[in-house]
Amino acid sequence: MLQQIRNGFGPKVSASEQSLAALHTLAAEAAKAAKATAPAPVAKSAPAETKPSLPPQITIVAGSPEVVPTVSTVWTWETLEAAALNCTKCEHLVRSRTQVVFGVGNRNAELMFVGEAPGADEDLQGEPFVGKAGQLLTKIIQAMGYSRDDVYIANILKCRPDMPGGSTGNRKPKPEEMQTCIPWLEQQIALVKPKAMVALGATAVEGLLGSNGPVGKMRGKWFEFRGIPVMATYHPAYLLRNQLISEKRKVWEDMLLVLEHLGRPISEKQRRFFTQSA
Ligand code: SF4
Repeated sequence: MLQQIRNGFGPKVSASEQSLAALHTLAAEAAKAAKATAPAPVAKSAPAETKPSLPPQITIVAGSPEVVPTVSTVWTWETLEAAALNCTKCEHLVRSRTQVVFGVGNRNAELMFVGEAPGADEDLQGEPFVGKAGQLLTKIIQAMGYSRDDVYIANILKCRPDMPGGSTGNRKPKPEEMQTCIPWLEQQIALVKPKAMVALGATAVEGLLGSNGPVGKMRGKWFEFRGIPVMATYHPAYLLRNQLISEKRKVWEDMLLVLEHLGRPISEKQRRFFTQSA
């Protein structure tokens, strides 16, 4: 199904109805199940009163990735955020997460960044891209001429992937976790309606475009998700691991393509960033 809900490669598949229906169903059934059987989400840092309550027309099926159309809820930011923040579809992640990391930024942004999953910092703060990699992403956004508040930022997976034995570090989301969670992101994209998106790293590329190919071979090219142009590039964490100016330049060249696509002004100084003459 994950493949079906993407349309980046190959013949386009209209999956919006499936995905929206999926959201509706899991939203519609989960509140019921969550009340009756699901363990209460562990709120380690987010006070319970800060989490919107689940709208009455929405239920979510705890522990079930199945999605079946049931209700005709029209999603708004309020209902979507409330439903996602109360999501209990992945019981193992509900047990380990501090909170659901929904997304942040301008909900009418022309540019949207999509990452992988919350890390430890994001899990604690409830906001995507706030750790070291996030700080680098913020610098990239600013170098493009935006502020962090101008763009919208979200992840493929909304809960931090659990680690064996509670060990530190991060792991890549599993395909079934991505399949279960991605309807939330799809609906976010449908509400933002960005003019362009940037897929940061292999997991974002896989989630949006359905490709397991190396990012190095996909970066610098335009793909499409539901008619929205998607630029693939390296995750900022890759640039933290690989400090070569040539790698930074590759990401920057991808961002220049995004700016050109959006018709944003680009100074000569910006064009020379991460070159020997910069
Ligand atoms: S990862 Fe996504 S689908 Fe799974 S519990 Fe968290 S919000 Fe729900």
